[in-house]
Amino acid sequence: MSTKRVFDFTEGDGEMRSLLGGKGANLAEMTRAGLPVPPGYTITTEACLHYFKRGDLMDDSLKCEIFEAMERLETQKGQRFGGPQNPLLVSVRSGSVTSMPGMMDTILNLGLNDETVQGLADTTGNARFAFDCYRRLIQMFGNVVFGIEHHYFENKLSMLLQKEEVNQEQQLSEEALRQLIEIYKECVIEQAGRPFPQDSRQQLLLAVEAVFKSWHNPRAKYYRKINHISDKQGTAVNIQSMVFGNTGKTSGTGVLFTRNPSTGANELFGEFLYNAQGEDVVAGIRTPLPIAQLEEGMPEVYEQLITAAKQLEQHFKDMQDIEFTVEQGKLYILQTRNGKRNAQAAVRLAVELVHEQVITKNEAIMRIEASHLDQLLHRGLDESKVQNVLAVGLAASPGASTGQLVFDTEQAVEWSKAGKKVILARPETTPEDIQGMLVSEGVFTSRGGLTSHAAVVARGMGRSCVCGCEAVRIDPVNKVMYAGSSVLSEGDWITLDGGTGRIIEGKVPLREAEMSRELEEILRWSDEVRDLRVLANADTPRDAAVARRLGAEGIGLCRTEHMFFSPARLPVVQRMILAESIDERKAALEKILPMQQSDFYELFKSMSGLPVTIRLLDPPLHEFLPNLDELHEQKLYVERQEQLAVLAEEKKALRAERQQISEMIQKVDALQEKNPMLGQRGCRVGIVYPEIYDMQIEAIFKAVSRCLDEGVDVIPELMIPLVGDVTELKVMRELVDRVALQVLGKEKIRYCPYKVGTMIEVPRAALTAKRIAAHADFFSFGTNDLTQMTFGYSRDDAEHKFLAHYLDHKILQHNPFQVLDTEGVGQLIELAVASGRSVKPRIKTGICGEHGGDLKSIFYCHEIGLDYVSCSPYRIPLARIAAAQAAIHYQKEKDITAAV
Ligand code: PEP
Ligand code: MG
Repeated sequence: MSTKRVFDFTEGDGEMRSLLGGKGANLAEMTRAGLPVPPGYTITTEACLHYFKRGDLMDDSLKCEIFEAMERLETQKGQRFGGPQNPLLVSVRSGSVTSMPGMMDTILNLGLNDETVQGLADTTGNARFAFDCYRRLIQMFGNVVFGIEHHYFENKLSMLLQKEEVNQEQQLSEEALRQLIEIYKECVIEQAGRPFPQDSRQQLLLAVEAVFKSWHNPRAKYYRKINHISDKQGTAVNIQSMVFGNTGKTSGTGVLFTRNPSTGANELFGEFLYNAQGEDVVAGIRTPLPIAQLEEGMPEVYEQLITAAKQLEQHFKDMQDIEFTVEQGKLYILQTRNGKRNAQAAVRLAVELVHEQVITKNEAIMRIEASHLDQLLHRGLDESKVQNVLAVGLAASPGASTGQLVFDTEQAVEWSKAGKKVILARPETTPEDIQGMLVSEGVFTSRGGLTSHAAVVARGMGRSCVCGCEAVRIDPVNKVMYAGSSVLSEGDWITLDGGTGRIIEGKVPLREAEMSRELEEILRWSDEVRDLRVLANADTPRDAAVARRLGAEGIGLCRTEHMFFSPARLPVVQRMILAESIDERKAALEKILPMQQSDFYELFKSMSGLPVTIRLLDPPLHEFLPNLDELHEQKLYVERQEQLAVLAEEKKALRAERQQISEMIQKVDALQEKNPMLGQRGCRVGIVYPEIYDMQIEAIFKAVSRCLDEGVDVIPELMIPLVGDVTELKVMRELVDRVALQVLGKEKIRYCPYKVGTMIEVPRAALTAKRIAAHADFFSFGTNDLTQMTFGYSRDDAEHKFLAHYLDHKILQHNPFQVLDTEGVGQLIELAVASGRSVKPRIKTGICGEHGGDLKSIFYCHEIGLDYVSCSPYRIPLARIAAAQAAIHYQKEKDITAAV
């Protein structure tokens, strides 16, 4: 551990993020750059971790360093901390290494007590202001340090407002504020059982400890969990001399983004509140003014602010989110950080920064948060169906959403678990609402601006959001909202348009998204650098068309069974399965063949010039049959009808029906399996009933033949699922070759060489890949099954049963069905790839499980040198960018190693 644990802003720099936290490093960097930053100092993350290690105990040497730094600050400011005249006041804020906006605690105005408040009143000549600061401190300190919930203070404040017959706290007289201070002090004693400390040094130490501890508060933990931030980083603490935005009309505070964080447009975007402190903007209690209005009110300050904003953006080479305060006409920059943005803004910004020659193409690609990309394919509204627009608020986060109205997080979570789509409506949101926001389709608030909590968090999560919609009154207690003459209650359908701010009554149909010009451009850049090919899992011509539009380079997995489920086809498929003789089965298969053939033909056509990998039937056959319980119920019902029937004719018909159902029950029962996932499925079906695969292969090659006749550039690949032993593949391959010859003939085969490959989904296949490779043109790792069989977890049960518990208790770091388990499953994949290549160096390898669309898993596939990933159509842009990021990341690593 480095010995120095407290750094003045003048001592650090932007490179020291892991020690000073993001905020501390940026404050130091801004101080160096000569920006008007109020002086202060940072207590390091190492100090925080050391504090945890000592069982939440601060050692004397750290206390000493903190007080020495305070003395230096006193000298710099010409003020004394705790001094009765012209007292030095400070803010105490957390500052984690990875930005966690609003997740941890902040205390402002620290250093005030019964004595110094008078000193502040004297120096500023504004007693009302001094008392206002003091009462804010008591509340914040009470909340952060002693854990007293805000509503205790707010109730007292409401009572006083009533007594004083005023509506807002700004209207309270100086005398009333004095009373409020006494009331708040009593409130602290009542709730915490101890007084608000008058000793400012004691205040400081308690505040620092509370900020350290806020690292462990539930909302911070939850934020880290959903954003995959390590729990082990700890937080730095920034102690900064206070400047005041609430000293009157020439003061104020605001937030400025150097670009529009919703769209990425190169325009200033921000808000300002006259006569206010920072928390007023973020809390969304008062709705602030657009930043442009500052130009009218304080033109010089506005000029300075614009200059500083440009300087900061150039310096940090990224959009900045700047907090500033104006104290009696003088501008101070309190904080800058890379601004949170939604995916749309991130892409536009990255592309424009390349055009402005601020960053390189590769840097732009690395800046895209791949996991947010699916938001980009934002949905909009079917405008022709928009009828009753209830109100228009601020367009805080784009995308349209529709769902049933809920007024609190609990209801949102409960209903979403039950499969309902919900829209969360709150007067304003707080970090406690984060879970509710996460499970909602969209969020709207009646208060707060574009930088309020709701707006920032919704953008980060990619939820559509409308905020500051003051025309709507939301009553969360009675679970109703009023908009003009409309009254809506919990459960009513509502639609939001986060792109325009509209709140619309009812369920408006949504329209699928289009790709922006900027996204197309960054995807093209990604294609230039990536090594992995990106294919699609697509089962229908419609999916294939979407996949191709989004940049798929072919189909890596067509699950043919999905073609069997339409109402027109299922009865024929059922006849095929329940057939009692081979002739009966063949008759049914003959009916299915033309259907399959036309599916394949359409698929080949939509992917002309690109490979299409078709997997032969995979699931257990009983999945296509009626549900056994339902059949029993049906039988009971018919039995009862039969008993009640009076007419002989009717009785006879019902008896026949009952017998039919009984036979069906017997057949379905015979096909039931204890462990269907490990039973009669995959190539086992093809081996036991070769006529089924025979029909599918014939359909494929007939479609190929037609394509060839019509000049469609067809590249067929046939894939055998669930192979565990080489003989299974050998036998199936012989079948494919035989049928291909029958249907296509030698000439066409020469013209259109097809590939036959296997899925590697069973650990034994991976272990014996060397032998299997001799009969396979490609290996497609079915990582869903391979995960299931390697862990011994049933895919159908794990997620509903124990996996959530495992993840909560950190038994596993990730859900292995989402993020590929590189340690175990990965070992099998690497072994199979190496042994496959040892006999067939050019054997094609890729994955087609869910992991093919997951960022981390894609990085891994690149790392181990697979040829492709295959994922669902809407994940394709993500996969293209992730593959490029992986290529850039590993190239950088190689360059570093080479340099060393
Ligand atoms: C797999 O197992 O990874 C796979 C793609 O097949 P399915 O999910 O259809 O079993
Ligand atoms: Mg599988």
